[in-house]
Order: sequence, then C-alpha cells, then structure tokens
Amino acid sequence: MCWENGRAAMSVPVSAAKMAEVQLKDVPGKELTPESPLTPKADDKGIVENEPKATSATSPTMEPVVKAGDPSPGFLTPNTKMPQASAMKRTETQQNGGDAFVNRDGTVAEAPRLKKIQFADQKQEFNKRPTKIGRRSLSRSISQSSTDSYGSAASYTDSSDDETSPRDKQQKNSKGSGDFCIKNIKQADFGRREIEIAEQEMPALMALRKRAQGEKPLAGAKVVGCTHITAQTAVLMETLSALGAQCRWAACNIYSTQNEVAAALAEGGFSVFAWKGESEDDFWWCIDRCVNLEGWQPNMILDDGGDLTHWVYKKYPNMFKKIKGIVEESVTGVHRLYQLSKAGKLCVPAMNVNDSVTKQKFDNLYCCRESILDGLKRTTDVMFGGKQVVVCGYGEVGKGCCAALKAMGSIVYVTEIDPICALQACMDGFRLVKLNEVIRQVDIVITCTGNKNVVVREYLDRMKNGCIVCNMGHSNTEIDVASLRTPELTWERVRSQVDHVIWPDGKRIVLLAEGRLLNLSCSTVPTFVLSITATTQALALIELYNAPEGRYKQDVYLLPKKMDEYVASLHLPTFDAHLTELSDEQAKYLGLNKNGPFKPNYYRY
Ligand code: NAD
Repeated sequence: MCWENGRAAMSVPVSAAKMAEVQLKDVPGKELTPESPLTPKADDKGIVENEPKATSATSPTMEPVVKAGDPSPGFLTPNTKMPQASAMKRTETQQNGGDAFVNRDGTVAEAPRLKKIQFADQKQEFNKRPTKIGRRSLSRSISQSSTDSYGSAASYTDSSDDETSPRDKQQKNSKGSGDFCIKNIKQADFGRREIEIAEQEMPALMALRKRAQGEKPLAGAKVVGCTHITAQTAVLMETLSALGAQCRWAACNIYSTQNEVAAALAEGGFSVFAWKGESEDDFWWCIDRCVNLEGWQPNMILDDGGDLTHWVYKKYPNMFKKIKGIVEESVTGVHRLYQLSKAGKLCVPAMNVNDSVTKQKFDNLYCCRESILDGLKRTTDVMFGGKQVVVCGYGEVGKGCCAALKAMGSIVYVTEIDPICALQACMDGFRLVKLNEVIRQVDIVITCTGNKNVVVREYLDRMKNGCIVCNMGHSNTEIDVASLRTPELTWERVRSQVDHVIWPDGKRIVLLAEGRLLNLSCSTVPTFVLSITATTQALALIELYNAPEGRYKQDVYLLPKKMDEYVASLHLPTFDAHLTELSDEQAKYLGLNKNGPFKPNYYRY
C-alpha cells in the first residue's frame, strides 16, 4: 500500500505491526568479570537473537525472544575510562527553526484564511513549497518521517538570496573533491561551529569515537544514510567514519537540512546530497546520487522514514545481495519494514531502533517535559506561574507536560480515560477532571492522547478569551481544527505558527501550529535526546554489521536490551553518575548476570 508510492500513512501504531512474540524469560548468562557493569562484554552471552513467530494478539510489547547468542562485537567491551562530566557540559545549541507542516495524507497545510498580519522577521519558509515545478517528475509529498522523527533547528543561514539550484552548481571542497551536492560550500566554517556545539551534548558518540582509536568495528562498512541533516546527524556521521565506515548521505526531509552543516560535512570529505528546500524531484535525485555510484555499493542502510529503503527496493533490488542490514528510526519506516517482513519480502535483517526503551523514554517523557515549555514560550511568551492548564492524557507525553508545568507553578488538571493512568495522575497530585468541567476556566489546553477529536468545537466555543490551545500528541487529529474553519470565525496569523481564531463577540483563542505537534513545529528537540537516538543507531549498525552469519534472519529486530542499557550507560558520565554494581551474592540472589541485562523484557520502566 503506502509502501508503493512512498506516502505511508503516518504514525501507525507499532503494536499493529508484526511483532516477535514476547518470551518472559531472562537470558541465561554466563559468569562475568566485574570490571565494569556498565558495558556489554565481548564474551557476554545474551545478545538477543530474535526468532520471528506468529504475532501474539495479546502481546503487549514487541520485545524479541531472548536467547543466549553469539558474542557481541569486541568493540562493545567495557572501557574503564568514561568521559568526565566536566567534559560534557550541557549547552544550548539550537535556535528556533520550526519544521515542515504536513497533513496526515502528506499534503502541505494551507495557511489559515482571512486576515494575515505579516511581521518583518516572520519566518515563512516552512509553509512554502519550493517551486521547481519543472523538476517534479515524481509524485512524492514531503516526507512523513519528518513528523514522526526529529529534525532539529533548520538552517540559520538560509541563502534565500541565492536561487540557483545546487544541482546546477559546480562546487568543490578545499581538497578538490566535488562528490557532493549542497547549497553553499562556503558556509563550511559556520557549520563546523554548529557541529562542535552539538558534540557537547552527544557524550555517548564522543565516547564511542574515543574507543574507536584502537578498534574499527565498522571497517569496510559502506553506509548509505537518509536522515535529517543537522549538526547532530553530523556528529553521528563523523562517529561512524571514526569507527571505520564510509558514508554517503541524503536528507529524509526536504526542509530540515542545515545548509551550513551539510557544507561542513562536504568540506570534511563526506558525500552529502541535501539542501534546505529541495523539490520532490531533488529529494529522490539526492537519494539516487547516494546509492547509484560507479565502483561503490552500500552494505548498510541507515534510514529515517523508509524512503531510502524503498528506493533501493524499487530501483536497485540486486543491491540487497550485498547489504547486511537496515537500521530504521521512524515509526513509519519501522511499520513499512514490518509490512515487508509480513509479506515475506524483507530480504535482509532490519533493526527497529524506534522502539528501544531509551529512545522511547527520551522521545516521549523527557523530551516533552522540556519542549512543552519551550514551544509555548516561543510562540506566546506566556508566563506559567499560576496559570490553569488542562492536560488531556496522562501517558508518557502527558506525564512529561504535567511535570514541567507543575514545576513552573501552574495549576494542572488532567483528563484520562484509563483508570490506571488516572490514578497515577491523582497520586502525582493532579486534579482529575472531565474536560467540560474546566474548559471555561483554563488558560491553556494541551492534548497528549494519541486519540482524535479530544478537543471539539463545543469545547472551543466555551473556552475563555485568550485561551491557548495546542497539541503534543498525535499528528493533527486531537484538536478538531477543521471545525474552526467556518464563516463566522476570523483567523488572524499573528506569528509564525500562531493563529488567533476570533469569535463574532470578540473572544479569541490562540491556536498553536494549527493543531499539529507543538514541540516539533515550534521548538527544537534537545540534542541530548537526539544523542540517545544517534547512539542507538550507531550500535545497531555495529551489531548488524558484525553479527555472525545466522544471528539475524530476514526480519525486524529490536536492539538487544543489553545494548539499550549500554546506550544509557554511555550517557551517565555526563551527570557524573555513579552506578552501583551488583555483588556476586546479589547477582545470584536476583538471578542476574552482573553485567546485565538487568530487567526482563516485560519490565515497564
Ligand atoms: P500513551 O498511550 O502512553 O498515553 C496516551 C494517554 O492518553 C493514555 O493514557 C490514554 O488512556 C489517554 N487517552 C486516550 N484517549 C483519551 C481521551 N479521549 N481523553 C483523555 N485521555 C485519553 O502515549 P504517549 O507515549 O503519551 O504518546 C501520546 C501521543 O504523543 C502519541 O500519539 C505519540 O505518538 C505522541 N508523541 C509525541 C511526541 C512529541 O514530541 N510531541 C513524542 C512522543 C510521542
């Protein structure tokens, strides 16, 4: 279906996809030396081997069957020296850039009707489509992956003065190489500064690089990647290169490329084909330039959204003979892989990094805890203290939002349908209400349910003047924005991503990002969150690339739990965190391997 035309329905619940059956068993581990409980060891048994089985209808998670397996790559042996916290100072790295607005069906949302107030400094570029009509030979809408995976800030240096397509330019880096296609190689120095800032918040990748000085676990790997091209991705690419890989890269989203970062990568010798504001045809052309090269054939795919994988399947299926595996980050891309697997068409092993525990926790809870405030502040300059806020849904995202707002002194109400989450909200000190009980009095309404039509016109009609309405949950379904497009209501665009919707009596509500995800549209994602993802991607590549024949079959796998724990452990030194080690006696008592994994697969963190 969606796979065929590259317009997958977005945010398909992973639970709907084919999953390996859960086996609630611990790994039969062998006794390990106590050098460091933080990291997997070369001789550890316990790397996951996934035996694909019929999906259990009741299976609550997609954890793979766990078995004693082959040794993990030697590279993952413990390093007794962890980076010091002082070297990992947290730094503000990004500026407001926004993201593309894409509807569920892949079309670009139109600007609101009626009055528009233009500000001189207003950034409009995210709502514009590039107008290279002549080159739109392929029917592809903007990558859906952009809405279920993270880009960071858009390019600060938008060279809107230079309208020449990068495809029409001949550029070379200082070493004379022209094997790239980017906006402007002269921005390389500025891009380098951006990358250096991102490095400060990506301690795990920097730690992997240090360890790569001796070992090259990706020696011989030819990685073709299709992700957001940002400073954080650059840190990942340069890490993969330090680990021995050759990389060719395209953007997974036509808007999210930081042009100066692409320039820095090109200057550093990376074959990057991406710029901010690609046309649809450019998008596929860039992917093709990464893959289709005389004398170079990829043996690993790193994808975000499934477009690259789709292209290789469609255009160069023979390449899969040499490809050792696919690492996929996004919900959409993972869903596509499960579809392929179900249809028996997946011809190489694939790693679903989207559903690793660390990534999920960071994406849903911690990221939203930080970015809810950021998104609201940037768009409205609202003060949170004393404000009455209702948060719809008390899952991971809702919990993050509530915690942040409570900490700022807001009075927070919660709505829930699930008594367990509702009880959690009560125990955490929030008033559980029905939306209609508080809708007249609240200053801010935030949806985080993953559901549809949670805030409908009836509620919008009853809100008080100035009420801020936004969505942190699913796509653009949670707030019934369509119901506001009626003749009696006036829309005023007051800032980028901010609309006043005005009732005939003068009441106005402040609608953010037209009901799409507030944080992805109006703020940036913290680099530390992206660090978790990037580390997971790097480890997944190492694992698939080094796995002995037969460990992984032609199916979709979760990152072994032990590696998930390893991703977390690599981020601990940032906080000068001191992890307790199990004694032999304790390990025996709990039936655990001293070096992990420390939890069974069914454990809910
Ligand atoms: P979750 O399932 O843990 O939580 C959603 C909660 O909403 C559940 O507890 C559910 O019972 C409740 N709910 C459902 N319908 C409701 C209704 N009508 N009224 C009140 N409560 C209702 O999911 P989550 O991890 O919190 O994610 C929520 C949504 O946020 C998903 O769509 C997810 O894709 C999205 N998400 C957004 C971001 C972001 O950066 N903004 C990050 C991760 C996930």
